[in-house]
Amino acid sequence: MLSESLVHLSALPPDRAARTTPGAGARMRGDGAEGQGANVPDRLRCDVLVVGGGNAALCAALAARDRGADVLVAERSPEFFRGGNSRHTRDIRFMHGPGSPYAPGEYSEAEFWDDLVRVTGEDLSEPLARLTIRASADLPRWMEAHGVRWQEPLRGTLHLSRTNVFMLGGGRAMLNGYYEAARAQGVHVLYEADVQDLRIDDSGSFTGAVLRAAGRDCLVEASAVVLASGGFEANVDWLRRYWGDAADHFVVRGSPYNKGELLALMLERGARPVADPRQFHAVAVDGRAPKFDGGIVTRLDSVPFGIAVDQDGQRFYDEGEDFWPKRYANWGGLIARQSGQVAYSILDSRAMAHFLPSVFPPIQAPSLEALAMALGIPPLALRETVDRFNRATRPGTFDPAALDDCRTEGLTPPKSHWAVPIDRPPFFGYPLRPGITFTYMGVEVDETARVVMADGRAAENIFAAGEIMAGNILRKGYLAGFGLTIGAVFGRIAGEEAAAHGGV
Ligand SMILES: Cc1cc2nc3c(=O)[nH]c(=O)nc-3n(C[C@H](O)[C@H](O)[C@H](O)COP(=O)(O)OP(=O)(O)OC[C@H]3O[C@@H](n4cnc5c(N)ncnc54)[C@H](O)[C@@H]3O)c2cc1C
Repeated sequence: MLSESLVHLSALPPDRAARTTPGAGARMRGDGAEGQGANVPDRLRCDVLVVGGGNAALCAALAARDRGADVLVAERSPEFFRGGNSRHTRDIRFMHGPGSPYAPGEYSEAEFWDDLVRVTGEDLSEPLARLTIRASADLPRWMEAHGVRWQEPLRGTLHLSRTNVFMLGGGRAMLNGYYEAARAQGVHVLYEADVQDLRIDDSGSFTGAVLRAAGRDCLVEASAVVLASGGFEANVDWLRRYWGDAADHFVVRGSPYNKGELLALMLERGARPVADPRQFHAVAVDGRAPKFDGGIVTRLDSVPFGIAVDQDGQRFYDEGEDFWPKRYANWGGLIARQSGQVAYSILDSRAMAHFLPSVFPPIQAPSLEALAMALGIPPLALRETVDRFNRATRPGTFDPAALDDCRTEGLTPPKSHWAVPIDRPPFFGYPLRPGITFTYMGVEVDETARVVMADGRAAENIFAAGEIMAGNILRKGYLAGFGLTIGAVFGRIAGEEAAAHGGV
């Protein structure tokens, strides 16, 4: 039972910090107010409640606060793990002219749009996608004004220095910057605060949310809510509905906290779904990666420089289809569809210098047969596959930085670029698993980031940003750095609109 004591957020005593026992339960930060779970009241009131603690959530919170709203961020994770998948990021894609101080060269709206459509196809909301691309132009400046620092463009196999800007210190530093800006501006943050229910009245208006912190329920009443609680990629039971037992073999690259309960709740309450529930961003990760939170280091970029085979030693897809940033996100789904959800990247000594070094050492052998034995693939089958591949390669000028003319002929599936014989021992192999980054099914939103309900009406005070609505724009494939772009653009819009809705 919730008691009747209603506390307005800004009325929390500023001396709480003095009574805090770090790590002892839910804690609240902001305006100098900080307390442990026992101090979280039964009821709170604020202008804008933001659910989640990642990029989209913090952009929403900061934007709402810039408008003068009293903002509470409810983050389910402990403070150390705050920031969900955003914690693992490094770079963000943005449109810019040739004179941008953040990235060299020009990245026009037209090129951005072409890149997007090339990976995701025409089945997307063009107005929302164009809005995202256009609004991305201002993101580096805005993020910098809210605590984020940038680093010099990178070189190497990433091919991203013109289109994307990299955070100095990566995603965790980006979040630290956001949270510090939020603290300085007086945004309240409650950690280990699990939002479990949303109160929506008969007219479809949000009235409050129930969060559980330190074993107690707290009813948060707010004029508006921003849902920035991620996708459902960490919810294996939910994934199993679409993938069956195969889901048990998926590696979740990011946060174990993104279980999608609020997405499920919104869909139950009549929000209109977008995107296919089987679609996700998933890359090839090392089969030895941990089940959750392995982050970027478990990704393997070796596939374009050798061949990939299934557990029977057979190739199943064009490994040289396109550059790494355009196609790498296809490989998780491809491996998810193979028997046992496993594949193997096979390389020779010549290929090893062309991709980022792996965190787990490659399995090495003096012959292909020995490599097959070490990996558990039938040796004869692997030998035949490699021989067939080698015979099909045509002479060309190998160039890992271009879509080169080294390709196969008469081979199914073909290898379109970087097809060089695998014949220089020692040979190397990596076990590959589908590494899910985030799911695409989400809630439909309009251009004000309001959630669209089944009857086509936009909920007046329920907003969504980030992975929970990325499926409006991303329905398959992926562009490196675009997850943060969507979250930051819609986080800002949601925060501003939510503040404006509350009359701030
Ligand atoms: C390894 C890895 C590398 C990546 N690299 C990049 C990159 O370089 N560039 C890029 O653009 N994208 C990258 N991405 C994708 C990117 O992380 C996401 O698109 C983006 O961070 C999503 O932001 P978000 O705020 O929507 O979700 P998240 O950052 O995941 O935040 C969701 C938050 O919601 C909280 N939450 C969930 N449920 C509840 C609840 N019921 N109550 C309270 N809180 C809740 C979670 O704890 C979490 O803090 C990467 C992802 C991974 C996993």
